[in-house]
Amino acid sequence: MVSTRIHAPRREEPLVVAYGLGVDLTAMLVEFARRKIRPDLILFADTGGEKPETYQYLDVIQPYLRDVGFPPVIVVRYQPKWAVYDTLEDQCLHTGTLPSLAYGGKSCSIKYKRHPQDKYVSTWEPAQRCWAAGGKVLKAIGFDAGPADMRRHRYVEDDRFRYWYPLVDWGHDRPRCQQIIEQAGLPVPMKSACFYCPASKKPEIVWLQEHHPDLLERALQIERNAQEGLLTIKGLGRSYSWEGFLKRRDEFPLLDGCSG
Ligand code: SF4
Repeated sequence: MVSTRIHAPRREEPLVVAYGLGVDLTAMLVEFARRKIRPDLILFADTGGEKPETYQYLDVIQPYLRDVGFPPVIVVRYQPKWAVYDTLEDQCLHTGTLPSLAYGGKSCSIKYKRHPQDKYVSTWEPAQRCWAAGGKVLKAIGFDAGPADMRRHRYVEDDRFRYWYPLVDWGHDRPRCQQIIEQAGLPVPMKSACFYCPASKKPEIVWLQEHHPDLLERALQIERNAQEGLLTIKGLGRSYSWEGFLKRRDEFPLLDGCSG
């Protein structure tokens, strides 16, 4: 197994946070402030499909970052060269497909999250200076130390980046992350993800229906639009369609909703 353990950033390497506006990364920033680890750059890659609550959290975190002396969140987006769409939702509608995660791929997050961030960093002066001197940029990844995140794919060091998993190093799981945020006097953000994300759990789909019926309708539109081309999967839920599930939702036990 590849070791991902890095205990602290080296002074000469710029520290970049790929911030998703969710629980883990918010807790990581709070812990950075407490441990006096100052990130040099905080990026949020906007797919265009986050839920309103997630966008609204920018109004919470930006003043906090200013108060602790951190740089503000910079929002980056996919910039098409030729494509007629610039959001994942429009791409799905234009191509008659679902987000790649529904087919078992990862290209939706690579294209709309990772690449825009890497592109920004590649033109960012401190990174260019670091690379010119033969160094690497340190990217902090917000996986927590809970069993689900511990199973996730880990990036290994490459030519330009080292990757650091601080929450894993510190042993902070999701409940601890929530506690860290509350102790800092901040509201706990909800789980960040596209409102049509195929990884959504059934209670989250129901939550979307109850809180944002307009967004649910747009998600169902993506699903309907892709239906003709679906061979091995049934819809956004992969083994089931969201629309079919919602029609039969009385058969499923409901939870209170998605608290992230
Ligand atoms: S949140 Fe889901 S749909 Fe959106 S980019 Fe990530 S994996 Fe794809």
